[in-house]
Amino acid sequence: MAKRGVPEGLWIRCPQCKATIFRKEAESRFNICPECDHHFYLPAQARIKQLLDEESFEEWFTDLRPRDPLEFQDRILYGQRLKAEQAKTGMSDAAVVGKGFIRGRPVVFGVTDFAFMAGSMGSVVGEKLTLAAEAATRLMLPLILVSGSGGGARMQEGILSLMQMAKISAALGRYHQAGGLYVSILTNPTMGGVAASFALQGDLTLAEPGALIGFAGKRTIWETLRLELPEGFQTSEFLLKHGFIDRIVPRKDLRTEVARIIDYCEQ
Ligand SMILES: [Zn+2]
Repeated sequence: MAKRGVPEGLWIRCPQCKATIFRKEAESRFNICPECDHHFYLPAQARIKQLLDEESFEEWFTDLRPRDPLEFQDRILYGQRLKAEQAKTGMSDAAVVGKGFIRGRPVVFGVTDFAFMAGSMGSVVGEKLTLAAEAATRLMLPLILVSGSGGGARMQEGILSLMQMAKISAALGRYHQAGGLYVSILTNPTMGGVAASFALQGDLTLAEPGALIGFAGKRTIWETLRLELPEGFQTSEFLLKHGFIDRIVPRKDLRTEVARIIDYCEQ
């Protein structure tokens, strides 16, 4: 798994089949390995470009910016970490939400980006996704959320981070009661408090092939419970087999598949 996105350079190495690939070729194929179909990390902006109709995305709530109310410090101050992550990614925090079109169908759309603090859910991510769910309820539009969060809840925000799980779940509950259609798309990785809240509350749950999806990682489970788990137990394929997700959809087919689901559910 690429930790911080695809490294710079003309050539990249596929972590799955170890092939050396011309970067431009991978990019022209939805950031998928041409040799083995491994799905590379995809930044939020590239995701928007791939999934939504050209120039159709209107970003919302761009004035929401993270703060450091606990003055939390690990290796560095959280405030400093935020500044560094913002400079590195060009994003204010790990989520982007707004309105767009998928093959001509209007949707409310949101995505979390692994590059910003592993896509973890702090107050801004939680608030943006909640506001998106509320807007989808008001506008009676389908809600499409793509998660790419390895961090789950953002521990630097303590309880303020954990309460986002309840807040967004409540908003999704109201959206559901109003008859809204929520399609959740899980990408590599979707873990922790993100998996334990909005990512696994979809009316339909899709996943990209080979994505790591779960709550606690294999190492954590071993360290806390001394349980040895089966090989690949947190992959899309394992979860599909065990009824945890509805369908695995290759990245190149996602736009068409989501459009089809919207049509099917609106009939
Ligand atoms: Zn490969």
